[in-house]
Amino acid sequence: MLLRLTAPPLLNTLKRSYSNVAPTTKLFIDGQFVDSKTSEWIDLNDPATNELVTRVPVTTTTEMETAVESSKRAFDSWSRTSVLTRQQLMLKLQAVIRRDIKKIAENITREQGKTLADAEGDVIRGLQVVEHSCAAGTLLQGESLQSISKDMDIVSYKLPLGVTAGICPFNFPAMIPLWMFPLSLIAGNTMIIKPSERDPGATVLLMELLNEVGCPPGVVNVIHGSRSAVNFICDNKDIKAISFVGADQAGKYIYERGAANGKRVQSNMGAKNHGIVLPDADKETAINQIVGAAFGAAGQRCMALSVAILVGEAQQWIPDIAERAKRLKVNAGSEPGTDVGPVISPQAKQKILRLIESGIREGAKCPLDGRNVVVEKYPNGNFIGPTLLTDVLPAYECYREEIFGPVLCIMSADTLEDAIKIVNSNPYGNGAAIFTSNGSHARQFTHEVDAGQVGVNVPIPVPLPMFSFTGSRGSFHGDLHFYGKQGLNFYTQTKTITSLWRRGQAASAPSVAMPVH
Ligand code: NAD
Repeated sequence: MLLRLTAPPLLNTLKRSYSNVAPTTKLFIDGQFVDSKTSEWIDLNDPATNELVTRVPVTTTTEMETAVESSKRAFDSWSRTSVLTRQQLMLKLQAVIRRDIKKIAENITREQGKTLADAEGDVIRGLQVVEHSCAAGTLLQGESLQSISKDMDIVSYKLPLGVTAGICPFNFPAMIPLWMFPLSLIAGNTMIIKPSERDPGATVLLMELLNEVGCPPGVVNVIHGSRSAVNFICDNKDIKAISFVGADQAGKYIYERGAANGKRVQSNMGAKNHGIVLPDADKETAINQIVGAAFGAAGQRCMALSVAILVGEAQQWIPDIAERAKRLKVNAGSEPGTDVGPVISPQAKQKILRLIESGIREGAKCPLDGRNVVVEKYPNGNFIGPTLLTDVLPAYECYREEIFGPVLCIMSADTLEDAIKIVNSNPYGNGAAIFTSNGSHARQFTHEVDAGQVGVNVPIPVPLPMFSFTGSRGSFHGDLHFYGKQGLNFYTQTKTITSLWRRGQAASAPSVAMPVH
């Protein structure tokens, strides 16, 4: 699928007149930044202005094959490097990423639209995975057992798979590639990254840093595009594993097509994250947390808190939530003091507006309506102000669909049990949170809720890299999750060696029965 943005007529004119001079995003193949020879380009527009920022190539098949050849060649030598060499690469990489946080964040704000502070968080959450990878020597240790039988020992190693691939979404242009290649590399693999065609700039900057710290050519290659690149990755026989993060449609497709071709696939997909608010919660804190988690990044986080279930008396808090959300400043992400930036594209904006309208049509009330927000300095941006839909019922489309915009759906429940039932009936299982000051309510919730990442007075419970990102049910296909121990297991295969070293006792006869030691 080639994504073409339908811009207003003025912007099409702008696009045409700039397109000859617009910079193009480079491929990164065998350690070199190269111009694609493609004739197909995807315009990448600044979400705050819809002006052209760069043109992203739809990588040709020949170029993708060159990338795989490079990755295969690099694997031969990279997989034989010592663990310390790989660990030292990560130590150097973490230092230069830390040095360049602001530079990478500026690129993210320009291409993706989020605020600079939020973009820095995007880089830092990825950097934490690099930091964790610096413990490669410990993380890669296998298992061993001496004397499992007389004179017999067992040892198992975690070994690389070969060429791996990562397919990334638009909403965390630095963090998600950094969930992938650092762990794949320390295990001795090489990796081909396909960043989102909507904001590949952060990945390209990370490749510059890999070159700066002396990563050998071909250890990471970057190709661009959308469906054709994804199909190539799913089908190529030399690619052994695929890490995918993105929406359901592509995630299920890649999981099935990759697995049908014998690859291991981990597929992180969409979400509808619920926050249950009990009346015994600290009101001020809970409201601030809900508003921040619903509208931060303009709601374009897979762990955005997009549904609040108000239990009992907490249903009286809607005016306070509306008042707090109304105060958030909608503006370009590059402007100081912005709380809510634009959404990624005019199409995304249209989809969000459609879902707000359908919610109202189906019976929701809209005490805070951001549909006609005016951002004077950026009249062509994809802005939507914070929006509340209340009285939402599970059958409504605005509840069934992932809105992925600055919209908080508010539902009501009489009891904690009823609220948990709503959460558990939703097909997604990425995250869920409870706001309460009662330990036994919190305990009941954490035991009974069917979600992979659970917060108690923590609205966005994304685990740190020493754990794993454990979305469940409809939010995940696969068995081994991203980063942490599971991430490393995903990028490794186990070789188990059983050795018998016995002196001076020749076997007296062939043993034809199954050995039981
Ligand atoms: P997306 O699925 O549109 O794109 C993700 C990747 O898949 C891109 O690289 C894109 O080129 C490719 N792609 C898109 N459509 C395709 C198709 N039809 N066939 C083959 N490839 C295709 O996702 P997005 O809009 O970039 O990202 C937002 C989505 O990602 C949201 O649903 C969000 O919840 C999800 N997400 C999930 C997590 C998580 O960890 N669960 C994290 C971040 C984002």
